[in-house]
Amino acid sequence: MNSDHGQLALLLSSLPDRPLASDYQAAAKKLLPYIQSKVPPMGEGQSAARLTFLTTVGRDDLSLARLIEGHLDATQILREAKRPVDKQALYAIWASGGPADSLHITQTARTASGLELTGTKPFCSGSDIVDRALIYIYPNEQLVEVDMQAVGAVGRIDFDGKAWEAPAFSETHTWNVALRRFPITQDNYIGGYKWYFERPGFCLGALGPAACWTGGAMALVDSVRQRTLKDGHAKAHLGAMAALVCSMQSLLRWGAQQIDADPTNKSGQLFPSALVVRHQIERGCTEILDRFGRTLGPRPYAFERDNSRRIAELTLYIRQCHAERDLEELGSYLGEHPEFLSNSV
Ligand SMILES: Cc1cc2nc3c(=O)[nH]c(=O)nc-3n(C[C@H](O)[C@H](O)[C@H](O)COP(=O)(O)OP(=O)(O)OC[C@H]3O[C@@H](n4cnc5c(N)ncnc54)[C@H](O)[C@@H]3O)c2cc1C
Repeated sequence: MNSDHGQLALLLSSLPDRPLASDYQAAAKKLLPYIQSKVPPMGEGQSAARLTFLTTVGRDDLSLARLIEGHLDATQILREAKRPVDKQALYAIWASGGPADSLHITQTARTASGLELTGTKPFCSGSDIVDRALIYIYPNEQLVEVDMQAVGAVGRIDFDGKAWEAPAFSETHTWNVALRRFPITQDNYIGGYKWYFERPGFCLGALGPAACWTGGAMALVDSVRQRTLKDGHAKAHLGAMAALVCSMQSLLRWGAQQIDADPTNKSGQLFPSALVVRHQIERGCTEILDRFGRTLGPRPYAFERDNSRRIAELTLYIRQCHAERDLEELGSYLGEHPEFLSNSV
């Protein structure tokens, strides 16, 4: 174990057996200096190391990985926008849309800047845990940075956790956040109209979740490896699961290479490349979840706290991929770009 890995293992070991949101907040904050000094940015030659870091955190705990992945994505976005990052702050990115999203920017005569945020944002991981959030406002197509601890925030933010029914990720407080006449200025704007989606770096963030999923699947395989397997079928499943882990790690490295070779996405191929990686890793995780159950039967689901939680969290986390909707986009891209992956398939 090299010293960086030892330091990271020590930091991760600070999580108690049954972590609460406050424990996740403390653990994530403890990781901040490590992230600042050891985790390289995306697209600057060492993207694979950044993804390996997320895989390591996911292998330890998927809820912590979910929070850290959001922090890394948000701070990478700020770096791309050439905006300062508060080194003490834990960040999130909340860009989920859909019918439950009503957040919008309004003009008002009440504040000097004349701008306010009002409405509800769903799926806000780390809602009352993080210090700052980048929030995408769909009606205005604008990314906005919000200081959740600002004096002006008092009485203007409501957290609603009632909608989250799943035990999985419950302590990440992935809640609905309602802002009420929350004052902002043009300084809160990150990038211009639609910049968040149109910047080359949008593709870079897509691999972060896949790295965390890989870590979650690796932890299940670790758990099988720690047992004495007598049954030949169990050994066959273990062999298949180990092979899947190798192939998921190779794909993450391949995705990272694509990004480092073309960080500004001149080729236009970064997004379809990310779709390839995410699809294969989602499939790999699904197969590992299946084989894990076929190897060990119901006991880990029922009697093993860590594994039952990991199974539930990995099952939910991989649903962040858009399944056939992503594959359709990939297939359409392949149809329009015969050169893409022409040497690979
Ligand atoms: C654990 C977890 C944490 C998350 N944290 C964050 C976060 O911090 N920040 C953030 O921005 N996002 C977060 N998300 C949300 C994520 O980014 C996506 O917004 C979410 O996965 C849903 O994606 P989607 O809306 O694109 O749906 P997709 O997966 O693309 O599509 C779902 C499809 O199902 C259909 N559908 C769903 N329900 C129904 C129904 N009842 N009837 C008919 N059709 C239906 C929809 O119309 C749609 O076609 C999180 C998600 C998870 C699982």
